[in-house]
Amino acid sequence: MTTPQVLDANSAAIIAAEDEHVAHNYHPLPVVIASGEGAWVTDVEGRRYLDLLAAYSAVNFGHSHPAILAAAREQLGRITLTSRAFHNDRLGGFAAALAELCGKDLVLPMNTGAEAVETGIKVARAWGYRVKGIPADRATVIVAGGNFHGRTTTIVGFSDDPQARDGFGPYAPGFVTVPYGDAAALEAAIDENTAAVLLEPIQGEAGVVIPPAGYLRAVREITSRHGVLMIADEIQSGLGRVGETFACDREGVVPDVYLLGKALGGGILPVSAVVANRDVLGVIRPGEHGSTFGGNPLAAAVGTRVVEMLATGEFQRRAAALGEHLETGLTELVGDGVTGIRVAGLWAGVDIDPARGTGREIAEKLLARGVLVKDTHGQTIRIAPPLVIRGTELDWAVEQLRVVLAG
Ligand SMILES: *Cc1c(COP(=O)(O)O)cnc(C)c1O
Repeated sequence: MTTPQVLDANSAAIIAAEDEHVAHNYHPLPVVIASGEGAWVTDVEGRRYLDLLAAYSAVNFGHSHPAILAAAREQLGRITLTSRAFHNDRLGGFAAALAELCGKDLVLPMNTGAEAVETGIKVARAWGYRVKGIPADRATVIVAGGNFHGRTTTIVGFSDDPQARDGFGPYAPGFVTVPYGDAAALEAAIDENTAAVLLEPIQGEAGVVIPPAGYLRAVREITSRHGVLMIADEIQSGLGRVGETFACDREGVVPDVYLLGKALGGGILPVSAVVANRDVLGVIRPGEHGSTFGGNPLAAAVGTRVVEMLATGEFQRRAAALGEHLETGLTELVGDGVTGIRVAGLWAGVDIDPARGTGREIAEKLLARGVLVKDTHGQTIRIAPPLVIRGTELDWAVEQLRVVLAG
């Protein structure tokens, strides 16, 4: 496998040109990717890198998966966008397949994850007023500290990450934050105006933070007992990543509402969805919510193929087996440049000993050795390879990390 050199002139010129006209809302690693296949991407110089980020789990099935590309290509030749002003011949099949995967009745299709979250909030409020009988404009949603649910003005208002939140107020009212992983605190925060609890079953952006065993079951029990909706943001944790279809499955928990995105679009286009039973999602009436692109035939064709692939269970099994493999490798680094690891399926947060560098510095050194990872919150790197990666490739990546940490 190739070991890339320092940034060359061609890549530097492309990056400089991008910096010239692209707003600086990201701080990308200095690599210019031109193509990808499976777990590997290739830069403009022809150097290959093992992708351990998979576009934050949007590329769970790998780059250019042939079955997903085939579904997209076939649909591109027919029709791609109709708007929901009319019916299209792909949406119904997609919704049926996705509802079945989730064990629910109804699907509300959107595009991005943040839109799914916003939709979930609207559904929770409508349900709160129309079904639960909360007085007008009083509904609240309980969220967890350390959350990441997207970047809209409403969503950043209930983030406690200063980088995401500060300077973008005024913030929307109606959210109550409790510590993540503390079921008693969550129950104490519930009152008669609580419509829903919104949380990530595993917090991805926070650094793959896994709540204490039994937490999700407790949240399910508490919300059911108080007549409050449980909304699981499975946008990053769901669709195979953790070795199950959903992270909630790890505790046998079925939330009232699933929020899905990222991998649902097969790495091709943004596809998100809110999935729930009719007694909840049925509260939304024509004209109250929508999206020009939501439920478009191309998205539905791709999403249908993704659901078909997940329905076999193959990817979930791969994630579980490879995740154990990864955990074994990472465990050997604990105490030797790594201060802690958290692993759920093929998803890991790796805390870097500050004496060995920041997460960003480690990511840059891994880049130079042909491995792509992303740092989060300073000292953590997140590992979320495409689920098609091979065990030997994971071993190689862990070896590169070991070498980098050794300095
Ligand atoms: C990525 C993510 C979102 C937002 O999705 P976008 O498609 O970037 O808007 C929401 N929730 C979670 C848990 C995520 O990981």
